Amino acid sequence: MVDSIEYDMIICGSGLAGLRAAIAAAKKGPRLRIGIVSKLQVMRSHSVSAEGGTAAVIMEDEGDTVESHIYDTVKGSDFLADQDVAEKLCVEMPGEIRKLEHWGMPWSRRDDGRIDQRNFGGYSFPRATYASDKVGFFEMQTLYDTCQKHENIEYLNEWFATSIIHDGRRFMGITAIEMSTGAFYVIKAGAMIIATGGAGRLYSFSTYALSSTPDGLDMGLRAGMALKDMEFVQFHPTGILPSGILITEGARGEGAYLLNSNGERFMKRYAQGKMELAPRDIVSRSIMTEIREGRGFKHETGVDCMKLDLRHIGDEKIKEKLGGIREISIKFSGIDPAKDLLDIRPVCHYMMGGLHTDIYGTTEIQGVWAAGEAACNSVHGSNRLGANSTSECLVWGRITGELAAEYAMEKKPQGPWPHHMVSAEEKRIYDGIFRGNGHENPYEIRQQLTDTMNEKAYVYRNGEDLAEGLRRVRELKSKAWRHVDDGAKEYNTNFLNVMELDSMFRVAEIVLLGALNRKESRGAHARTDYARRDDENFLHHTLAYYDPGEPIMKTHPVTITRYKPVERKY
Ligand SMILES: Cc1cc2nc3c(=O)[nH]c(=O)nc-3n(C[C@H](O)[C@H](O)[C@H](O)COP(=O)(O)OP(=O)(O)OC[C@H]3O[C@@H](n4cnc5c(N)ncnc54)[C@H](O)[C@@H]3O)c2cc1C
Repeated sequence: MVDSIEYDMIICGSGLAGLRAAIAAAKKGPRLRIGIVSKLQVMRSHSVSAEGGTAAVIMEDEGDTVESHIYDTVKGSDFLADQDVAEKLCVEMPGEIRKLEHWGMPWSRRDDGRIDQRNFGGYSFPRATYASDKVGFFEMQTLYDTCQKHENIEYLNEWFATSIIHDGRRFMGITAIEMSTGAFYVIKAGAMIIATGGAGRLYSFSTYALSSTPDGLDMGLRAGMALKDMEFVQFHPTGILPSGILITEGARGEGAYLLNSNGERFMKRYAQGKMELAPRDIVSRSIMTEIREGRGFKHETGVDCMKLDLRHIGDEKIKEKLGGIREISIKFSGIDPAKDLLDIRPVCHYMMGGLHTDIYGTTEIQGVWAAGEAACNSVHGSNRLGANSTSECLVWGRITGELAAEYAMEKKPQGPWPHHMVSAEEKRIYDGIFRGNGHENPYEIRQQLTDTMNEKAYVYRNGEDLAEGLRRVRELKSKAWRHVDDGAKEYNTNFLNVMELDSMFRVAEIVLLGALNRKESRGAHARTDYARRDDENFLHHTLAYYDPGEPIMKTHPVTITRYKPVERKY
């Protein structure tokens, strides 16, 4: 018999979305017992590494408008965003900035005392609210502090969720492993929010924390939810070499240049109006085009790259506004950005796709919501604008927190507990993985899988590469990598890593299949064999459902309210 514990509602994930949801739920239902289940300690969630800013309209008196934020988001999305959802983001965000301010967020300020904002790619007004270049760290700390005021929020830190238990239609609980003891538990609850973040570790060159794997997405997928728009992967133009750690767009927001081997600010050829501050998809493609045409650099590791120049910003301003990336450059590349050029290259940075939800974060299982990067409510369409993701986490953290709390308070009668689902999950992870008898090294397989994604589904794609990528991923998947060397119960990270790998295969396959099927170029998905956007055939979302054989691919309409798709120029 598996031990079980019970909450009124649970939140899976303790990043920005999870913590914001917890506060909203605790306020809505002060008597609800809320459990935050996280495979990490709270402050190790990837959200702490957000650097550059959080987008919101707070300077209407200086000319910014919510309407313009909406349009920038929709245009940035290459018209695949659901426009009602983009509108919701932009309308709700100013209130979130003020709320964080009241909760103690140390926003960077101007000399006159007002909250400051900086330039970010793709916006027609400098609207990234920031805190030096550590916005995520300070937001997380502010939210975590605020959570402490609510005694009804409890933390299950270092608990690894493995599956969703439901009765075919309605949520009933999850299964999870308490990492410190290795015990397998059932956590029963009336409602759940999935806030398990992005899955950028599908790529070997990535800005993400090592923990950003698709196990949360896969848990939803296996429970019958669709993954939406997974082919749209964002490559941030400036991952520093050799590590791939992010150099924030805030650097270009503060005036940094991109230079090719002729010493030219090449962005003038691709986005004369916005130059280095064009949206990320465009800047990443421009870098790769320059490299392809022979105007790149070779890094000492042999990788092609481009240069980022911050020298003219000056040491003082770099220390004040970009202290984090200064430290990263010095520590991880040995370069002081006030003195030398940085070697950069497009790097996997964000997943526009995620669990399919509606505008309220509702998923296809009653009683389950999804928020933050794990969700795809279609606010970013095929390309997210920088600084809009932390915003998304705050807005849909709040919305889903309130809705899930209301639902949990209604206390619907539960049917018989589906014991068979728990046994099937135990069998899957213990017989299939923990006691698996594979002979291949799962870490080597993981490296090959993530390298394949890098090589075959990077900034520029084509049908041949994608098909080859899919073939390789399937071949790797069929190898005998299912085994765990470490037999310990306590803190068996080896076991968890192999479970993460298991989820990576299913989600990588969906990224590649979605990309193969989408025979057009839109936003972050750029195909050299179908170089144009094709609204006639592809102005729709992609859905992928689980099937033990091969994912079932479907489409879903885009909500267009105010803006007819037009050609995207900057
Ligand atoms: C380096 C970097 C810089 C960024 N900078 C910015 C920026 O300046 N502005 C901006 O808007 N966006 C930025 N982004 C994007 C943004 O930070 C993220 O999209 C956002 O923080 C994601 O938050 P989240 O709450 O959805 O998930 P995360 O913060 O990723 O948290 C995921 C949570 O899920 C938990 N979890 C996952 N799987 C399981 C499981 N199986 N069981 C239990 N728990 C699980 C983890 O423990 C973790 O707590 C940046 C991203 C990166 C990588």
